[in-house]
Amino acid sequence: MARQFDVLVIGGGPGGYVAAIRAAQLGFATACVESQAWGDPKGEVRLGGTCLNVGCIPSKALLQSSEHFDNARHGFVMHGIATGEVSIDVKTMIRRKDNIVSQLTGGIRGLFRKNKVTLLPGHGRFAGGGEDGWEIDVAGETVTARHVIVATGSRPRPLDGIVVDNRLVCDNAGALAFDAVPKRLGVIGAGVIGLELGSVWKRLGAEVTLLEALPDFLAAADADIAREAWKVFTKKQGLDIRLGARILGVQAGEDGVRVEYEQESGGQVSGGQVLECDRLIVSVGRVPNTEGLGCEAVGLRLDARGRIDVDAQCRTNLPNVWAVGDVVRGPMLAHKGMEEGVMVAELIAGQAGHCNYDAVPWVIYTHPEIAWAGKTEQQLRSAGIAYRAGKIPFAANGRALGQGDTTGFVKMLAAEGDDRILGVHIIGTNASELISEAVVAMEFQASSEDIARIVHAHPTLSETLHEAALAVDKRSLHF
Ligand code: FAD
Ligand code: AMP
Repeated sequence: MARQFDVLVIGGGPGGYVAAIRAAQLGFATACVESQAWGDPKGEVRLGGTCLNVGCIPSKALLQSSEHFDNARHGFVMHGIATGEVSIDVKTMIRRKDNIVSQLTGGIRGLFRKNKVTLLPGHGRFAGGGEDGWEIDVAGETVTARHVIVATGSRPRPLDGIVVDNRLVCDNAGALAFDAVPKRLGVIGAGVIGLELGSVWKRLGAEVTLLEALPDFLAAADADIAREAWKVFTKKQGLDIRLGARILGVQAGEDGVRVEYEQESGGQVSGGQVLECDRLIVSVGRVPNTEGLGCEAVGLRLDARGRIDVDAQCRTNLPNVWAVGDVVRGPMLAHKGMEEGVMVAELIAGQAGHCNYDAVPWVIYTHPEIAWAGKTEQQLRSAGIAYRAGKIPFAANGRALGQGDTTGFVKMLAAEGDDRILGVHIIGTNASELISEAVVAMEFQASSEDIARIVHAHPTLSETLHEAALAVDKRSLHF
């Protein structure tokens, strides 16, 4: 007799493992299928998906190490601290990162035990079934489940003709495990991942060149933020970012990588460009994992971009089959997948599942950090929505001055008339933490006036949000 579950989750990343834990908390007999060992030394399946193993967590660990290194070399001097010669032991830095990953992935196994989620190691695939129960093949066994949540995530988007060997030509997994600082690092794609990984190795001493296809830098961000980021990354930090680049070919040889490309700027195309580098990172976006899932076998519908087609509550076209995280529409962010996982488990339990897509924060963990929630100025303008903006530089904030880190600003956009907060955009130190206040405000449909009346501790970086709210009404006190 096949093993039976109430809820079976395919994929143990943030979308999947959180859905499984919440479903189990709600009393369902729950299993989670995961296929990847992610380089586990014992070859055991690891939970946490891209995020924990080769994404959010390891990249933030390396960003922290490289920031310390950069501070020791350049940042402490202004405080009167002399460090002498500073060196980096890349192997120790990578080991620390690996230990953090092991600790967290092991921790999720512990959470599965605590919540009585059954881990089914192996590749999950729909084999048949219907509304009364779905059959899923896992490593030669067929299990059945009343509800299936697909959370198979995404993988790096390949570029035609470029072979990733994760030695010289790397995707995110390889770029998080370099054994030495490359002298010259090339990065294709100046999006979130390219900028974060490029920053790590730049701070450690690499010459970093990023080739970006689009003519605009950080096109998804508020244009003001993108302009400031461009200035800081290129002029202050020396990242060489080349926009409008079309890759023509990549050859990897014994002594490095040669990238041929042409570049379009102001309507002019300059062909025959070459970038020679010691290592290359390819970070041109991610594609959903739907292959080998048996979608065709059961008629699970995909959308035009190959993602599993879902409604606003993550229902697919099949009864009792749901999908969450990177494999469905919306931003490819771990916290968005986790919230969807919780929402779906609660909907299955007949509760009012909730995920507010209008208040999902975006963060880029460069230095300065970039974070935003809600609409950009360009989106508001093109939608014809009347708004007022309040903008405060960190240079006017005492805490930022004390920290010696005054780059950037906070900008709040509020609706003309009722002052409802429509968007908050931050570039500056700790933007990833500061954005939470904006998200809470937007979740509860607060106005800039509400923020203006909230007591903010002094001296804190959060006072910039307070001042930006005051500035919406042209009454900032400290700027
Ligand atoms: P995934 O994490 O991709 O997990 C899916 C899991 O399903 C995988 O473990 C896979 O092995 C498994 N699987 C797939 N198919 C099957 C199958 N058929 N059977 C069994 N198992 C299967 N997001 C942030 O919010 N903040 C960040 O700072 C951030 N940094 C990032 C940095 C990098 C370098 C990268 C690459 C990504 C980063 N992301 C970040 C994005 C984040 O990692 C993803 O949004 C998140 O992991 C998506 O979660 P998921 O559960 O949908 O999918
Ligand atoms: P993200 O999705 O934030 O990781 O960003 C991926 C980045 O890669 C985006 O800025 C894309 O414009 C960029 N990109 C996509 N395809 C190419 C390409 N062929 N060459 C260079 N950049 C690319």
